[in-house]
Amino acid sequence: QQILVNDTFYPNKESAFIHVEDRGYQFGDGVYEVIRVYNGRVFKSFEHIQRLYRSANEISLSIPFSQNDMMSRLEELVNRSGLGTGNIYLQISRGAAPRTHAFPSTVESVFVAYCNVKERPEEMLSNGIKTITTEDIRWLRCDIKSLNLLGAVLANQQAHASDCYEAILHRDGIVTECSASNLFIVKEGTIFTHPANFFILNGITRQLILELAVKNGIKIIERPFTLEELFNAEEVFASSTTIEVMPVIQIDNTIIGKGKPGQLTKKLQELFSQAISSSLY
Ligand code: PMP
Repeated sequence: QQILVNDTFYPNKESAFIHVEDRGYQFGDGVYEVIRVYNGRVFKSFEHIQRLYRSANEISLSIPFSQNDMMSRLEELVNRSGLGTGNIYLQISRGAAPRTHAFPSTVESVFVAYCNVKERPEEMLSNGIKTITTEDIRWLRCDIKSLNLLGAVLANQQAHASDCYEAILHRDGIVTECSASNLFIVKEGTIFTHPANFFILNGITRQLILELAVKNGIKIIERPFTLEELFNAEEVFASSTTIEVMPVIQIDNTIIGKGKPGQLTKKLQELFSQAISSSLY
């Protein structure tokens, strides 16, 4: 396994080191991305890198190299790792400095990236996942892909403790997204998903789903929906880089769509798979 720290490649996790006063470690002061690789090709790399630079900009963290340079580093990482299908994890922290909340006057950001082998979750994609609902206790800038993930960690842990894969989050009964994915419901043939504002992360997969739906004449509307609408939906699905278009077949004790992935969900899965295939040429 190759670990990239700034400009240096290390042969394994044991040989790469992060300073104990790294602000990513102490404050969650940094941003990250998870990017999918299919057959050695980085999927939607431009979109992920753009979002990374946007997230960094929103927390006044300047990345000391260009987006093109970032792209080349990631491609080199994938090549050196010999990765076929899997994930790239990358993060940038504000850097290491004596501990104090405000930004240090001199500090150099620390960039880390590595890959993991991970096949597509075929079994879950065919059968769907179980979920729970829980209050969205995260901060008010969920549009930033920040290293502060405690709200998401606690919600996801709650799901796992109930033998579920995801936690669906709501603020006062308005559904926002899930702990690590976006959420969609289908009502009378129309898809609804929360608008991209401060309350959700605007998923790259979410954006691709919107694009695929529009191109294929599937009605999709960005508007907030309630827990009641969620429980009464004909179909529900979640989306992310790692879970793609994932059918939700149970929410708390409610079975959705007779416990099977719905028609529109399956249609979008098919379109998504085609998008992956065409990215490989
Ligand atoms: N929302 C949250 C809170 C997430 O953590 C993620 C996955 N990182 C997503 C949505 C989905 O984003 P993407 O499709 O870009 O992976």
